[in-house]
Amino acid sequence: MSADAATLAAAVARGERGARSVVAEALERIEAGDDAVRAFYRVDRDAALARAEALDARVAAGEDVGPLAGVPVALKGNMCLEGSEAHCGSRVLAGYRPPYTATFVRRLLDAGAVVVGMTNMDEFAMGSSGENSAYGVARNPWDPERTPGGSSAGSAAAVAAGFVPLALGSDTGGSVRQPASFCGISGFKPTYGRVSRYGLIAYGSSLDQVAPLARSVRDLELLFEAISGRDPLDSTCIDDDPVRPLEGEGLAGKRVGVPREYLSDDLDAGVRARVDAALETLGQLGAEVVPVSLPHTEHAVPAYYVVATAEASSNLARYDGVRYGLRAPGDGSLQGMIAATRDAGFGDEVKRRILLGTYVLSSGYYDAWYGRAQRVRGLIARDFARAFEEVDFVAGPTSPTPAFRLGELIEDPVAMYLSDVLTVPVSLAGLPAVSVPCGTTDVALPVGLQLVGRRLADAELLAAARTYQEATEHHLARPQGVPA
Ligand code: GLN
Repeated sequence: MSADAATLAAAVARGERGARSVVAEALERIEAGDDAVRAFYRVDRDAALARAEALDARVAAGEDVGPLAGVPVALKGNMCLEGSEAHCGSRVLAGYRPPYTATFVRRLLDAGAVVVGMTNMDEFAMGSSGENSAYGVARNPWDPERTPGGSSAGSAAAVAAGFVPLALGSDTGGSVRQPASFCGISGFKPTYGRVSRYGLIAYGSSLDQVAPLARSVRDLELLFEAISGRDPLDSTCIDDDPVRPLEGEGLAGKRVGVPREYLSDDLDAGVRARVDAALETLGQLGAEVVPVSLPHTEHAVPAYYVVATAEASSNLARYDGVRYGLRAPGDGSLQGMIAATRDAGFGDEVKRRILLGTYVLSSGYYDAWYGRAQRVRGLIARDFARAFEEVDFVAGPTSPTPAFRLGELIEDPVAMYLSDVLTVPVSLAGLPAVSVPCGTTDVALPVGLQLVGRRLADAELLAAARTYQEATEHHLARPQGVPA
């Protein structure tokens, strides 16, 4: 079984457990189970064991090896660890080995964590199911016919399957919160700018955040403290210290607002029932639960899919066959080479978004589309700001449905986009949000409760989520075949 990260790290630091045996066990679980789950596209067995042995030697020499001593961690395929293939789920980056290590990965390593491998994802993090990958589609450990969510599909599945206690994903419009909710685990998107994006391969730069996944909020806090804080290598990174967990109780006397727009009739009945019960529990724990309104919610999906695709079209212009990864010769001319490379290298969804993003930025259409979406973004941020004058947190479902079936939405991009309706508003507003398990539906699929906090109130938000979690047992439920 896989203990939580805090327990494992403490045992390794005290010399009660060797990092090597902790890591070897994680590798065994991956070997035994990942043919079915397909969370990883790459497992760095030898490197992980060598690193664990080095940590053990340092512990034996009396050194403090850090708060994540010996904890196995999985990284999403858009994260740079020097020499470890980061292809972002794309053919265009096949074989790309970053020549440098991301700031947040460096911090993980400095905290004593051991990276065991890289996980499957939607190509360039565009998707909500993991199916937009050129390499393999991860499965939901609760039901292999269903998606683990996306785009951080493999990272969420790896934690839910018990392979590793911690994983990192990235959340641009919900890619950590929604998979956490589909997989019955906890996932946290920090305030935009809390974690350096240096070494996170860009999708939508004004939205992208590195985001932790774990079984418990306590582990999210541990991981978040390790990776957060100022970084001169990312100008959008907030100039502040790493975020320390707030000790103690986080709900008594707090006001929790439930947006009426988040409880629409489209909500799956099982999701509605579990979330209603969770809101009642928040009340029993001393919070005052009140209705609020976020009136521009219905415009969030269209605004997000304009802003995110615009930024993506500009970020992805760098994949031209010259500097990175794939090169297809085409007709031999420079333009021909670039066109052939992009045609062969990108999948359908990425092409769709580059076209859309280029269109909304083009002269003549810029103001009608991109400019308008930016103004809607402002209105959505203002909705939240007004709500937070009345309440400390906003609560509701993370996703309108539990995990859907693989293949169910992939032919209908708009339906797939609409499934992000409850996560993208928070992303546009740059706020912190966490998804925690709040039970399962009648057909045994997990449901996530999303809690949203004020900008920079990451620690308060996590303390509230932890208080809910420690008073309930939903996070202890496991898919069949995964030991408690
Ligand atoms: N599903 C959303 C999208 O496809 C969110 C993805 C993400 O957060 N990376 O853009």
